Amino acid sequence: MDPYVSSELGVYSGLNNIEDYGALMNYPDCCVKSFETARFGIDAEHLKEAELIKKEIKNEVINGKINVKDKCAIIMPSGFIPCSLNCKNAIERNLINIVSYDEQINIIELENKLSQELPHYHGAYGEYYEKIILL
Ligand SMILES: [Zn+2]
Repeated sequence: MDPYVSSELGVYSGLNNIEDYGALMNYPDCCVKSFETARFGIDAEHLKEAELIKKEIKNEVINGKINVKDKCAIIMPSGFIPCSLNCKNAIERNLINIVSYDEQINIIELENKLSQELPHYHGAYGEYYEKIILL
């Protein structure tokens, strides 16, 4: 849920700690524990993982397994910081997805519509989805 909207609605006002918030959002325990170690954003470790994912995708393209536009970006809901971009628990819960070019365009269009329907400013969340571009 959008942080501004959720705070306006008081959704989290009864929550006392990060574990409660993680449980409410269905975040995996491994990612919540990682967040508690002050990993509050996409960091150098995540970007190193992204570089390895890019290499894997490049090999898939070279070997003709996928089209270059099939895996264009890693998408996560804003506010969710995984313990790893390869976290199986987060991937199973669809908190981390690798999307095609067309899917990424759809997400950007969705964000634009959400911004029009829910106009507000939140310092930490300029977008509704975190995007790591792979192309
Ligand atoms: Zn995790």
